[in-house]
Amino acid sequence: GVTFDGVVKRYGGQTVLDVARLDVPHRSFTVVVGPSGCGKSTGLRVVAGLETPDSGRVRIGGTDVTDTPPGRRGVSMVFQDFALYPHLTVEQNIAFGLRLEAKHNRRAGPDKAEIAQRVTDACAMLGLAELRRRRPSQLSGGERQRVGLARAIVRRPRVLLLDEPLSALDAQLRQHARAELVRLHRELGNTVILVTHDQLEALSMGTNLVVMNAGRVAQTGVPADVYQRPADTFVATFVGSPT
Ligand code: ATP
Ligand code: MG
Repeated sequence: GVTFDGVVKRYGGQTVLDVARLDVPHRSFTVVVGPSGCGKSTGLRVVAGLETPDSGRVRIGGTDVTDTPPGRRGVSMVFQDFALYPHLTVEQNIAFGLRLEAKHNRRAGPDKAEIAQRVTDACAMLGLAELRRRRPSQLSGGERQRVGLARAIVRRPRVLLLDEPLSALDAQLRQHARAELVRLHRELGNTVILVTHDQLEALSMGTNLVVMNAGRVAQTGVPADVYQRPADTFVATFVGSPT
């Protein structure tokens, strides 16, 4: 699992993250919700190693990774704005991380055939088979988002961080993608942390729910418990009312 221990992150003079203690259970599907600007993306970036906390420690699988570089954490992240490489095709985007892994780790890393197979599988899973040779500029927003997802799952990370990964999809695709993500989590047997603004996703997709407010964790628990027994009026209003 992933553990936050006294993690504080400031930008300028402003504290945007202040998490005394948070346990994301190993192999859980944990959903994070909270108002815009409450620190959800910052929290994910701290887990990914893209931000260094000003104080506190982050652990993954019991190991302190606070000073571990992003590439060595076994973590993949899907960004809110997808962050695809514009000059690479869909399949090159998806294969990029694997190729890097192969280059840095010639013995244990995936070989060419393995990379090709995994890219094909990821494309099939996300309905991208027909789009493999296009560039991001030739894709719709929803298609780009699926490329972002494919690029993350192809790595088979022990921790998968998803920052509103379905926001650009239409209702039907979204419904399909939700089911795919839940299935994927089961298949990979890894830990998934998903940020969403969607009430339904918050209450139905995950095994665990984290509600954040102004950089802090307002409540964590099984979604149904949080819904039925909110810790305070903020959680009650936030989880109870449609967003
Ligand atoms: P949203 O739901 O809108 O995506 P969020 O919960 O993901 O919001 P964050 O992106 O984590 O919010 O931002 C938390 C706070 O930190 C915000 O007030 C934001 O303006 C601020 N912030 C984020 N990144 C930076 C940065 N690089 N420099 C300065 N302030 C930042
Ligand atoms: Mg965000």
